[in-house]
Amino acid sequence: VSTPKLPTRLAGAPGAATTRDSAPPRDLSGLVARCDAAGIDWLDDAATLDEHARDWWPVSIGWAAHGELLARPGIVVLPSSTAAVLEVVAACNDARVPFTVQGGRSGVCGGAVPEPGAVALDLTRLTGVLEFDEVSLRVRVNAGTFGPELEAWLRARGCTAGHFPQSMDLSTVGGWVACRGAGQYSTRYGKIEDLVRGLTVVLPDATVVATGSAGPRQASGPDLTQLFVGAEGTLGVVTEVELVVHRLPGSEERRAWSFDSFAQGLEACRAILQRGATPAVLRLYDPAESTRQFDVDRAVLIVLDEADDLLLAATISIVEEACREGRPEDVALVGRWLEHRNDVSALGALWERGIVVDTIETAATWAALPHVHADVVSAILAVNGTAVATVHQSHAYLDGACLYFTFAGRPEDADAYYREVWDAATAAALNAGASLSHHHGVGRNRSGYLRDALGHGADVLAAIKAALDPRWLANPSVLGLRPPLEGR
Ligand SMILES: Cc1cc2nc3c(=O)[nH]c(=O)nc-3n(C[C@H](O)[C@H](O)[C@H](O)COP(=O)(O)OP(=O)(O)OC[C@H]3O[C@@H](n4cnc5c(N)ncnc54)[C@H](O)[C@@H]3O)c2cc1C
Repeated sequence: VSTPKLPTRLAGAPGAATTRDSAPPRDLSGLVARCDAAGIDWLDDAATLDEHARDWWPVSIGWAAHGELLARPGIVVLPSSTAAVLEVVAACNDARVPFTVQGGRSGVCGGAVPEPGAVALDLTRLTGVLEFDEVSLRVRVNAGTFGPELEAWLRARGCTAGHFPQSMDLSTVGGWVACRGAGQYSTRYGKIEDLVRGLTVVLPDATVVATGSAGPRQASGPDLTQLFVGAEGTLGVVTEVELVVHRLPGSEERRAWSFDSFAQGLEACRAILQRGATPAVLRLYDPAESTRQFDVDRAVLIVLDEADDLLLAATISIVEEACREGRPEDVALVGRWLEHRNDVSALGALWERGIVVDTIETAATWAALPHVHADVVSAILAVNGTAVATVHQSHAYLDGACLYFTFAGRPEDADAYYREVWDAATAAALNAGASLSHHHGVGRNRSGYLRDALGHGADVLAAIKAALDPRWLANPSVLGLRPPLEGR
């Protein structure tokens, strides 16, 4: 059974770490009494609070190495049903205590770190499949279910969710929805917002809403499901998720090519998507990443598709035609990628050695992608201390794709360098026409950029937040949604 896993240990004894954010102690006695009365488990020992003060935000790995946390919650509550979540949220309202939903805590933007002294609402006991419609291919699952458990359940019934983020073992279905996640096979199966059909959400004012429609599409007002997809726990607690699933594919094919340049490879990807082929995996690496991963000093494109035999044959034919300008490479490169694709064991060790490393993912139209690529790489390299700035294309669409940048440096002041790179890269990406994030979300890390990205849309989002969460209790420090007067 999967459980949350953090990249490194926190230095020092339990409870000894200093915190960057603190608040006067909160009175949690009423909340504890209600949990006890309702039979809802909670924990507040020092080791548990330390553990729940962290997620996978890379800069906080460096802090943990020095015995430092962002903020420590006052209590961890562990509800195992929607009714129990409702009770906890009602108690938080009565006590005016903020709460932060936690799934696998694999988020990389600091979004799952609770407010100081407040409630960590851990959903990892809210697990399991609730309903399966094998005729229509829909599954309803509790939000705290980890990826491997859902996938194993579906595979035993001849189906797949088709959603395989690199953090598959670390993340929950609710976290996928809350962050608008993308799996590595998304070019065939879609991103999570394409897979989700309905949600059960405990709203911050302690009411419950079920979204979605009985049929595959609806025309009864805007799609409320999508309001909560990507809300990062700021608009409520997603307790149940209905997903569309797929029958297990008949066959699989693999191919690999390399191109003289990343730009030439991008053109091949565009041609593939615009002829209507959607191979599950279509990943293009710049020469630096290709050298690092595949020992090939060119832009490597790996292709893997799985589908019905007829569809697969057509897809591979289109891919082969579109890649005529490329040089065929050994398909073993695809196997190499599959073998190492979820291995991130180096990350913690690098930060512990003083090396600042992170990834920045964004999306842009095919027309804008070459500029986004050039401008973001130049912006990162221009920051003093940068040693590496590389890119790959990881998810492709009819009209554009996701670019995934990796940077590393060994600066004297890690925090200052980290923020300088994020500021420079984000400004370059937005100016070149890219979106703020493709699938990691906003969290705390990107909160300061939300207005630049959304313009007046940020006010609309804040108005929705104020309407659904008048006391501003649901994960208030993320998504750039702090109430204006509180400042930060
Ligand atoms: C090594 C690594 C690789 C990764 N690869 C990918 C990838 O390939 N694709 C991808 O999309 N992401 C990836 N991520 C990012 C991360 O795994 C995803 O964002 C994931 O969806 C988070 O799920 P979680 O259960 O861990 O959520 P958490 O980290 O616990 O929470 C993330 C945010 O969602 C909110 N939240 C969580 N559950 C709920 C809920 N039920 N209701 C309301 N709000 C909720 C939290 O409050 C928080 O704001 C990666 C992360 C790591 C560390």
